[in-house]
Amino acid sequence: MSYLVIISCGLIYLLLLFGIAYYAEYKLKRNVNVVNNPWMYALSMAVYCTAWTYYGSVGRVGTQGMEFLGVYIGPTIACAFFYPVLRKILRICKSQRINSIADFIATRYGKNVSLGIIITIFCVLGLIPYISLQLKAITSSLSVLSGEHMAEGSLQYFYKDITFYITLILVCFIILFGTRSVDASEKHAGLVASIAFESIIKLVAFVMAGIFVTYGLFHGLGDIFQKAAARPDLKDLFVFGDHGTFSGWTATMLLSMFATLLLPRQFQVSVVENMQEQHLKKALWLFPVYLLIINLFVVPIALAGMLTPALKNVDSDSYVLALPLLYGHNKLGLFIFMGGFSAAISMIIVETIALSTMVSNHLLLPLLFSSAGSAKERPLLKSVINSRRVSIALLLLLAYVYERTIAQHASLVSIGLVSFAAVAQFAPALFIGLFWKAGNRRGAVASILAGFFIWFYTLALPAFITGTGGNSSIMTEGLFGISLLRPYALFGMEGLSPIAHSFFWSMLINVLTYVIVSVNTFSDAQELYQAELFVDIFRHTSSSEQNSIWKGTAYIRDIRSLLVNFLGEERADRLLTSFAIKHKLSIESGYADPRLVSFSERILSGVIGSASARIMVRSVTKEEIISIAEVLNIVKESQQVLELNKELRKKSAELTKATEMLTAMNEQLTQMDVIKDEFLYTVTHELRTPLTSIRAMSEIVYDNQDMEEEMRNHYLSSIVNETERLSHLITQVLNLERYESGRQKLHITPNNIDDLIAEVVHALQPLANEKKATLTFHPSSSMYLVQCDSDLIRQVIYNLISNAIKFVPGQTGMINIRVRIEYEELQVWIEDNGKGVPNELHELIFDKFFQAKNQTIQKPEGSGLGLAISKRIMDMHNGRIWVESEPGKGANFIFGLPYA
Ligand code: ADP
Repeated sequence: MSYLVIISCGLIYLLLLFGIAYYAEYKLKRNVNVVNNPWMYALSMAVYCTAWTYYGSVGRVGTQGMEFLGVYIGPTIACAFFYPVLRKILRICKSQRINSIADFIATRYGKNVSLGIIITIFCVLGLIPYISLQLKAITSSLSVLSGEHMAEGSLQYFYKDITFYITLILVCFIILFGTRSVDASEKHAGLVASIAFESIIKLVAFVMAGIFVTYGLFHGLGDIFQKAAARPDLKDLFVFGDHGTFSGWTATMLLSMFATLLLPRQFQVSVVENMQEQHLKKALWLFPVYLLIINLFVVPIALAGMLTPALKNVDSDSYVLALPLLYGHNKLGLFIFMGGFSAAISMIIVETIALSTMVSNHLLLPLLFSSAGSAKERPLLKSVINSRRVSIALLLLLAYVYERTIAQHASLVSIGLVSFAAVAQFAPALFIGLFWKAGNRRGAVASILAGFFIWFYTLALPAFITGTGGNSSIMTEGLFGISLLRPYALFGMEGLSPIAHSFFWSMLINVLTYVIVSVNTFSDAQELYQAELFVDIFRHTSSSEQNSIWKGTAYIRDIRSLLVNFLGEERADRLLTSFAIKHKLSIESGYADPRLVSFSERILSGVIGSASARIMVRSVTKEEIISIAEVLNIVKESQQVLELNKELRKKSAELTKATEMLTAMNEQLTQMDVIKDEFLYTVTHELRTPLTSIRAMSEIVYDNQDMEEEMRNHYLSSIVNETERLSHLITQVLNLERYESGRQKLHITPNNIDDLIAEVVHALQPLANEKKATLTFHPSSSMYLVQCDSDLIRQVIYNLISNAIKFVPGQTGMINIRVRIEYEELQVWIEDNGKGVPNELHELIFDKFFQAKNQTIQKPEGSGLGLAISKRIMDMHNGRIWVESEPGKGANFIFGLPYA
């Protein structure tokens, strides 16, 4: 395929990326954030998959078998465990406006300048090879696609070299792309949107390649594996075990676990660009799913490549591309090339932006500031942006030079792991420092230096020596001929893969140094304060705005002009005013409140990193040294504030609860009122019905003086009945009223309960007979004397038995009455086989109001007050009354009296 076509496609693709970024930012200005969701977040995390994944994994299968998977299992494990750690880091970065991994570690250890410099330098050293790897991938895939060989070439003739021009284009692109906003801690919606897009492209392209190879060239997975199994040289490759040792696997997995967070680009997308903390939860499983999908076809493609004799002399790294091209599928080839291009440039873009922020903030700007004198004098906004631009150009050119000189000789994967091992050296200082307050600056500096030294000696140096084909006596005989110092067998440790070996020694020494130095040295006040803020971030977030450990004198005028220098007049004033309003400060003139100074420092941190921001603020203020005691006091105070807040929250919760209770009670009262009204209505209604019929019947008798004797008697007896019902009802109401008001006096005497029951049974026997129901009393054998008001208890027994008679069926009705002593209670059980009482009514039937209401609906015969009265009577006797019943199986009404 012609060069021109490919290059134009590449340029169009870059334009498209630009368009996407532009669109996302255009939308953002209209308050629509297209990347504010966990999907975009997870896709941007997939910048983890670079050209190394795209081309390199396939290549690695040929030599290392399944071991490439370690690089993806690591992040998957990390995702399962990282949630609490990442959440903590996110919270810290937000409250401290941290914009890179160097900034993060430097800020943790007292906003230390030298720590920022060290980390930045090591990041650059560790990652330049990795960036150059991507350049190499672009060029070599380009030569596979175009069919022209162009990889070789020396630095001398760079102007004839396509890679050089690709690098230049990328420099321009990234400068346009990544340096539009000065605040590096701000979110770059455009960047995230285009990275997410690239992640989709590389995934789709790779999966398409996989499907084409597996199902187009072969008859599915089974076919490929069968053919491979038949080849003695291939059959072991896809079996776990033979290739790659346990130590190799472990090291690869651990390294990539750390890399998931520590690589500057990963820190950029997963921490700096994070929009919302809660996106984390979803992204932490979406990201592993992405890794799984993109790895599905790695082994099939690798095996297919090795099974194809025509590719015998083709580098296994380019099988993905070479296979479709071999069979003449040029368009598919172009698309797959674009996928690889995406993978490579997304990595280059994000890594370069992240690194350039670090280089600019920790290396270039401090130099600039120290030579520029006081920061008040000139606008620095331009310098910040320019220094970032210079950094971008420098980094990419360095990567280019590396690619032309050393990377020529190495395969994709090995370089990647070397970079992983480099950033892993930050792990102890970062992770332990996140949970251990005593870890201090000296410990961190020493541990990172020591770790890096080991990394360099056991990994980078050998790679360099073998890469350039230089003198290798160091490798075989050790430094100065001391065999204990052989880089691949340090202190005589042999048998490990170089990566595992280096990882083991560097981590061991790194961690030991960190702990030992931290324990044996002291921290200064600033460090103590930062350690406190980091480790206990969840206790401090709310109070960090109110607190400041800054002490000294500063003029508002100076602070303002400092901010204006970096942010421009408009933004600086907006920030200052809103902070002043929020904290009720005056920003007109005079001395600045310490909180305002701290706030300004935080804002500047977002632009130039915390260490530089501190220097800047110092340059315009007179800062006094703060003592450790003062820091401890502030910390204590902020904790007290927190305690107080907690207390307040508790109090207000209690208040809310009390209010709720009052509301509930009020509601109940209103309801009672309604019920009472209803009751009154029912009672009067009940009184009116018999009254009306009494009146009607009396009138009939009165108007028809010559009525027949029999007829008249009938009317008169009805009148008498109705009158009785009336007076019964009135008595009931009056009784109830008397009991409830407490006007009823009890006449307590000893009574034989059997006698009382017998009397009532005797009185009610005719009623039972009338209904043809069997009413049986089983007297107890002993004489139970109970202290009570005999009239009232008789009434209770009467109510219960007459209810039972009322509710049992005719003919088969059965009522049994028993007496029983249960603990110190004398119980009377009245059992019937009537319709029973539904569960939900067991309490309610004793309620007079409920009764009244119930009655209007169901209209049973009776006053509807019997049980309510009985309950009142039992209350007056300190006794109780209840019902046990399963609907349909009859009811057991029981009342109990205290019995000594
Ligand atoms: P009433 O004088 O209307 O019977 P009560 O207060 O004595 O009023 O009873 C209230 C309600 O309890 C009755 O309407 C009935 O629904 C229920 N009830 C009382 N005793 C029994 C029983 N033995 N079997 C079934 N339901 C009963």
